[in-house]
Formats: sequence, structure tokens, C-alpha cells
Amino acid sequence: MQDGAMQAWIESSHLAGGNIGYIEDLFELYLDDPSAVGDEWREFFDGMPTSGVDIKHSEVREQFREMAKNKLKLSGSANAGNSEMSEKQVKVLQLINAYRFRGHQHANLDPLGLWKQEQVADLALEHHSLSKDDYATEFNVGSLAIGKDTAKLGDIHAALEKIYCGSIGAEYMHIVSTEEKRWIQQRLESQLGQPKFDADMQKRLLQELTAADGLEKYLGSKFPGAKRFSLEGGDSLVPLIKALIHRGGENGAKEVVIGMAHRGRLNVLINVLGKHPQELFNEFAGLGIKSEKSGDVKYHMGFSSDFATKGGNVHLALAFNPSHLEIVNPVVMGSVRARMERRGCQDGSQALPITIHGDAAIAGQGVVQETFNLSRTRAFGVGGSIRIVVNNQVGFTTSKQEDARSTQYCTDIAKMVQAPIFHVNADDPEAVLFVSQLAVDYRNAFKRDVVIDLVCYRRHGHNEADEPNATQPLMYQKIKKHPVPRELYAKRLLEAKVIDDKFAKQLVADYRDALDKGDCVVEEWQPMKAHSVDWSPFVDNDWDVDYDSRMTVEELEDLALKVSHVPEGFKLNSRVAKVYEERVKMANGERKLDWGMAEMLAYASLVKHGHGVRMVGQDSGRGTFFHRHAVLHNQKDAKTYMPLQHIADNQAKIEIYDSVLSEEAVMAFEYGYATAEPNTLPIWEAQFGDFANGAQVVIDQFLSSGEQKWGRLCGLTLLLPHGYEGQGPEHSSARLERFLQLSADHNWSVCTPTTPAQVYNMIRRQQIRPVRRPLIVMTPKSLLRHADAVSSLEELADGVFYNVIGEIDEQDAKKVERVVFCGGKVYYDLLKQRREQELNNIAIIRIEQLYPFPHQEMADVLKQYQHVKDFVWCQEEPQNQGAWYCSQHHFREAIPEGAKLSYAGRAASASPAVGYASVHKEQQEKLVNDALTIK
Ligand code: AMP
Repeated sequence: MQDGAMQAWIESSHLAGGNIGYIEDLFELYLDDPSAVGDEWREFFDGMPTSGVDIKHSEVREQFREMAKNKLKLSGSANAGNSEMSEKQVKVLQLINAYRFRGHQHANLDPLGLWKQEQVADLALEHHSLSKDDYATEFNVGSLAIGKDTAKLGDIHAALEKIYCGSIGAEYMHIVSTEEKRWIQQRLESQLGQPKFDADMQKRLLQELTAADGLEKYLGSKFPGAKRFSLEGGDSLVPLIKALIHRGGENGAKEVVIGMAHRGRLNVLINVLGKHPQELFNEFAGLGIKSEKSGDVKYHMGFSSDFATKGGNVHLALAFNPSHLEIVNPVVMGSVRARMERRGCQDGSQALPITIHGDAAIAGQGVVQETFNLSRTRAFGVGGSIRIVVNNQVGFTTSKQEDARSTQYCTDIAKMVQAPIFHVNADDPEAVLFVSQLAVDYRNAFKRDVVIDLVCYRRHGHNEADEPNATQPLMYQKIKKHPVPRELYAKRLLEAKVIDDKFAKQLVADYRDALDKGDCVVEEWQPMKAHSVDWSPFVDNDWDVDYDSRMTVEELEDLALKVSHVPEGFKLNSRVAKVYEERVKMANGERKLDWGMAEMLAYASLVKHGHGVRMVGQDSGRGTFFHRHAVLHNQKDAKTYMPLQHIADNQAKIEIYDSVLSEEAVMAFEYGYATAEPNTLPIWEAQFGDFANGAQVVIDQFLSSGEQKWGRLCGLTLLLPHGYEGQGPEHSSARLERFLQLSADHNWSVCTPTTPAQVYNMIRRQQIRPVRRPLIVMTPKSLLRHADAVSSLEELADGVFYNVIGEIDEQDAKKVERVVFCGGKVYYDLLKQRREQELNNIAIIRIEQLYPFPHQEMADVLKQYQHVKDFVWCQEEPQNQGAWYCSQHHFREAIPEGAKLSYAGRAASASPAVGYASVHKEQQEKLVNDALTIK
């Protein structure tokens, strides 16, 4: 540090003199870890002339010794020159900081009073060498936002207790941004942690608590013993969500998407979304429900409505969800992203995601971490979300800390994205209202996630038929005696003379009467208008619906040039340049098209004609196997360029993102996007097909069955690299068998395309055909560059995806003695050997769509082979995997009567593939030989 600079700093400093040792300690702490010291200190040290320069601690000590020698005076309100007082001033600032950091650990959060709170040493006056004897002394309050610069220690202490140890426990000091911390401090401290609400607002709160309580009591008495996953104990959730919607709507939100598990869901449906109670009662009674679909239990069902706020109507969508807790979160984020984009909103201000978590689940389920990790990325950002934890302190029968988690709070995972966390006692509805407004404002101001931990209890067992005393005896003895939130708040308002006893009783009676009538009980409810997309063109269509996907060759040629165009001066990597040179040749008709080019043309032709495309996968821009190169990287300045974004002036949007390294959350996000946006083709691509395993819950619970359970259409396409290339057990199989096993009710299509024209027409069909159901594709690896896997522009232009492709070589069908069925890459191995060995008595038929099985096309192709008795299904996968077990009934149905069907493929195996390349090769030769050897 320069002498002059140091001197200037010392002179400008209000801290020096007798407390120099203390400052020295602080400064050492700061040098080790800037966040370890309070904000004032960090700012102060940051402002020192050496800030950022690595100086030895001994030098620092020396400098402080210098300062001590100078005996510079402490300015400010503390008695200048009095070193004891100067030190006290410092201690007061430290006390304030201690409350900001750790006050939440002494906050009154648990309505049952059962939490054993650790005594935090830093929150004791004595820890800071202060005592009540100092209460009357006036100190500088630093940045404490209580509306004055100085205050008596007694007042400061009382304010800190109110702000940080009342019904709200605020955790925000882990946030790095000083601006954000200051913003939160301003809001919390200026209101002493809890603002005053006017009488109307207080009455509304009581009314909402009455509704939350009233519904559960009503259901409990009308349908005793029926599972309803009651909200009781967490009743404040209803005013909390309503407050979020009101605040969101007042600040520009047009749509709110809510995700929640079963606890309290019926209450939210009736008391927030405005579902008619009579409909719910009918569901309980099993009346009037007719559906061809398989349906779902009532506490998994979604709902849509509009909700009036001062800022206009807001559309509400409660997402359908399975019993897998937490998986709905990325689905909600994807749905919000689609809605934002449709509204042309970049920052999330028009669409608000609210997710509701259980305390055990938010700590226990990995998808929570994955979803937080999505929150600030290019592909998945939604401008922040509001995360509510209904923290009833028990997960089914598992008690909180000892067994359910390894962290103090269930919300600690949120710190990974520096989300502020507001723990709030659910028995204090005004504090709940305050944090809900604070949360929305924070999210809108900083576009980041924010967490509200609603600390409550669960009045009954996991469901109403359960016996919670068996596992949580003490807690339930306490709960039995604990008044319900409505009662507590009514008492508080009575004591404050805001209401009289009659008013409270009348609210209860009015709500019961409304339920008796069965009509909507939400005042803000509005008939649905505000949602922004029309699904009717896709509803009730099956695969055979008409569509026209033809293109002219001229138009395709033009598009081919456009997708191969690289701007002047854009320097490509030499290998990529080669790919693009070949593409230009393909566009000029000098060579046939390969897979990558066909795919590019599929996307280009869609966006040119108004269909959006969104592709997400771990390496989708380039393609795991170096085949796509949809996103180009300039070797000079690393800038990127996407030819597909330069197809036509008024083209639709195309986005191709390399995703975070997650399957579960990302696929769920894409499901959410796809179920909210029918006009964009959403594609999720696996790095290797078997990585989709990590998203099995999304495949099982949403993709395969969402339409059947919930009537929600979804056009998501999964591209899953699959094929036996000798790469070992992990990268060979996309587990085709699992998708086929889940295939029923025409729930999706499963394809194994073998040519560029097929992949092109398959992608276009998926979007142009007015059907929105998932498409599962086994995509190739080595085939991407196979000399025979090429197509002409004419083949692309005809606009047809062939579910079955018959024999392509000239053969006399009458002489055919064996027909081999196959799909995917093995076709080329079979073809090669059949040609080499001139086995013209064997025909090879490719089944390019395994589900829905193309019975009619098969019948057409097999017409000429009715004399054949010998049919073989050939696959690369082991016998217990691939299509053999799940699809052979279809093959058998297709072959002529009396013909036999046999299997050529790898023997059954626990593992998908062998690890040794030589064994792989042997197996591959054998299965091809088996398929082509007539015994
Ligand atoms: P939402 O915007 O999600 O609340 O949806 C509003 C309405 O659009 C719903 O009530 C449905 O009628 C319809 N809808 C939304 N999403 C889908 C979907 N994925 N499939 C079919 N219909 C949908």
C-alpha cells in the first residue's frame, strides 16, 4: 500500500485507534474469505487502496500498527477519542451483522414450538462484549435500515429481535450481490420484519384461512376416511398463493403456472383456482365421471382458470402431476418458458412459476438440484421462480432432521443459486403475506429464484386413514391441542378489535353455505380467456388424420443452399468446413444427402413455413457424433452462427441449445414446454440413448401416459442414439424394449429410421401432422456417415415417411424363400452380406416404425411373399431386449398363416452389450449369418 494512500484511507476512516487489534483480525478474516466479514467491513476493506492486491498478513499488521501509532480518532456518533467507545461501536455493527447472518436460527418459526433451537453465541450481547448496561447509549446503526442513523443500543437490539427473530427467519447473507442484500435488508428492516396491514386486508386473510379450514372440515365430515391429503396445519398456503398471484398480476404477470404434489391440492383447486366444489364432491362420490381415458386420482389433477387482480386477469394453470414428488418442478418451468416466449417476453415478467414442495422431498430429491441448476441458463431460464415449501416437519412417517436430511434446513439446496430463503411461521398469516409480497417483488427485481419455507404441521397422518401417533407420538399430542390457524388469527383480530366474534362466526357459516351450494367459492375467479394458445386443431386426431408434407425439389434446393451458407469472414474449424463444403455439393446435386443435411433441411423447411423448432441436448449444436453442426463457432472470435436462423425474413423461431448435463430435469422441462406449445417442434436429444434412463420417471409418468391420465397432448420428440458399434454396455442401446413395453393406446410412435429421407420426413410429419403425441426415435451413430445411408432431394420432397420399406434390390419375389424383418443399422449389415453372397432368395424388409405397428403397410409389402414359410426377425440387441419380446405378436400377425417366425440376434443377456470389441464383432457376424442362412 502506498504511504499516501494509506494515510488518506486512515484519515477518511472512522475506525482506528484502540480497536486496531480487532480491525486487524477482521481484515485477516477478510483476506482469507471476503464473505466471512460483514457487509460494512467488506465494503470498507474493498474501499482500501490495496483492495484486490495480495499482500502479506505481516505487512497488514504493520500497517495497522502504524495506524495505532497515529492514534487516529473514531468519528461518528460514538465518543470520538474514547477507544472503549470506538470498540463498542464496532461491536454494535458486528451485532447487527450477526443478526443478519444468523438471526433466523432464533426465529419463532415452529407453530408447535417443538424445534430445538441451537443457542447461537453471536446473537448474545455478551459475545460482542456488550451488555444491557449499554442499552441507553446511542450508536451509529450503520446500514441497518430502521429509518435513522443512530439509535440507543436497547432500541437496536429490540429492532433486531423483531426483524430477524420473529415469525420470519430470513436467510439471505449467502447472496454475493450487495445490491440484492441491501434490497432485502431495506424491505425487512424498514418494516421491522412485519408491516401493518389494514383492516380490510386482515379480514380478507381471515376469510381465506376460514376457507382453507372450512373445506377440509367439510370434506372430512362428508367423506370420512377418504384420502384427501388435507392441508390442515398448513392453511396459510391458501392466502400465500393468492397473495403471490395478486402481487404478480399487479406487476405484469399474465399467466401463473403452479406445480404441487398432493398435500393441500384439493384445497388449492377449490379455494385458489376456483374449481366448483360440486365437481369435487362428485369425484369423491364417484358420480358422473365418464371417460374413455384411464384418468387419475383427484389429487393429481390439474386445472385452469382465470383470476382477477388489480393488474388485470391472470391465467392460472395448475400442472397435472404424478406421485413422484418434485418431478413437476421442471415441467412447470418448461411450461412457463413456452408461455413467456409466446408472449415475446424475455425476462419472465409476464409468466410466473410457483412450485410447492414438501420438506422431505425438497431435501431428498435430486431433481430439485437439477431444476435449480437450470434456472439461470440460456435454454431454461424463466426469470426466476417462487418456491414454496409446505414444511410440515415430517415426510410420510420420517421425522425431520435426524433421518430426512443432513442439513439444518430442508431448503439449503436453494443456496446453490443464491436464492434468498424466507422461513415463516405458518400460524402468523400476516408474516406469510408479507414474505409472499417480498418474494414476488424480489423475483421481479432480480429475476432469480426465491424460497418461502412455510413452517407448519400436518394435522392428520400422511393421509386421513393413517395413524400418525404410531410414529410421531409427541408431535401429535401437541397437534391435538393446538388451535387451527383460523382460530388463532380470529383471536388475534378480536383482541385487536378488528372484528367481533359474530364476524368470525359468520365467515365460517357463509363458507359452509357456499360449499352446500356447490358453486365456485373464489371471488377472483373469472371464466377462462387469458391463456394464449389453441389446442383444438390437435384434439381427438389419430395418426391417420390427413396432412400434406410435400415440398418441391426447387424449394429444397434453395433451402439446402441456405443451410450450407457460412457468412463472409466466418472462420470455420477445418473439419467443420469440410462438412459444409460437402453440404454445398449436396445442395448442388453433386452428391446425395447424408443424415446431417437431411435433418438440417427438415428444420429449415419447418421454420420457413411457420413451425418453430426447439432442440435441446447435451451436444445438440454440434451433434455428439460430429454430424449436425447446426451451430457454427468462429475460430477467430468464438462467436456463433446458426444458418437455420437465416432461412427467411418471416421464418419461425428456431433454437438449438447444448443443455446442462442432466436428463431428468431437462426432459421434464421439455415435456412442460411441449405440453404448453403445440406450434413449436420440441426435441430432446440424448448424448447416448441409454442416458435417457436418467429420465425414466419422465418417460413413465408423463410422456407415455400423460394423454391417457390427463388428456394433455405433447409432441415432444426424443432422439436417442442407438446401435451396436462395439462401444460396450453403456453406449450401445437406447433401451428400445422399454419404450415398446410402454406402448399402448396409440400413446406415441416409436421409429427406427434408416435413411436421411426417412429422418427428414419423420421430423416433418411429427410437426405437420395435426397430432401432438411423443415421437421416440432410435437414431444412428455410424450410420450418420454410412456410404449407403444417403438420399436424393427427390426422396425428401415426396413428403412420406415410410413405416415399412420393402426389398430395394431387384428380385423375383416368387423365388424368395425367406423374409428377414429388421430395423435400424443392422439393415445395412444384412444388405451388404446378402449382396456379397448373392442370396437372392432372401428379401429384407425394414420396419421403420415399430409402434403403432403398421399393419396395413406390412400387409401391402407382404402381399408378394404369401408363399414364404420362413420369416426371421433380426436384431442387434440381446434377445430379452430390443423389439423381439414386445413386438413379435405384431410380426406374427403380419406373416402368412402357417409360416414360422424365428429369431436371429444376440443371446439373452443381463447387460445390453459386451465390453470386448472382438466379442462384439463375433456376435454381430453370427447374428447376420443366422438371419441369412437357410438351414
Ligand atoms: P393452460 O394454459 O395449460 O391452462 O390450458 C388452457 C386450456 O388449453 C386447457 O384447459 C385445455 O383445454 C387446453 N390445453 C392446454 N394444454 C393442453 C395440452 N397439452 N393438450 C390439450 N389441451 C391442452
